[in-house]
Amino acid sequence: MTTSNEFTVGSFQGFLDQRKLAGSRCEQCSELSVPPRAICPKCHGTQMALEELSGRGTLAGFTSISIVSTAMAQEGFGREKPYLTGVIELTEGSRIAARLVEMDATKPQEIKIGTSLQAVFQDTEHGGQKRVVLAFGPA
Ligand SMILES: [Zn+2]
Repeated sequence: MTTSNEFTVGSFQGFLDQRKLAGSRCEQCSELSVPPRAICPKCHGTQMALEELSGRGTLAGFTSISIVSTAMAQEGFGREKPYLTGVIELTEGSRIAARLVEMDATKPQEIKIGTSLQAVFQDTEHGGQKRVVLAFGPA
């Protein structure tokens, strides 16, 4: 269960492509890392076990973005149509940053910290290459 090639950005994307969210749990201090890491950021232990996560969590912080990158502009976002990114406190005890969907980015004052969220796996295509992108929406 602890072969190091499981703990790469590529393997995390591999899980996303299967519509799964995965992290690594340190067997020494039980710190959870998402995306998975080969070395524990807390105790520097190397005994890491891959763990599939529920995808549930709560909103810890967010921002509404209206000055967007070229890639996001191509998706139709901009000054008139902002989008949201947030930090999600996962039920299993780690945090991850991801785009927020199915929430109104033009009314950030109505979005509440602590809102229950669920992972949403979005199909995207860039330059003919399909991949699944992680986002979170209301549970
Ligand atoms: Zn550790």
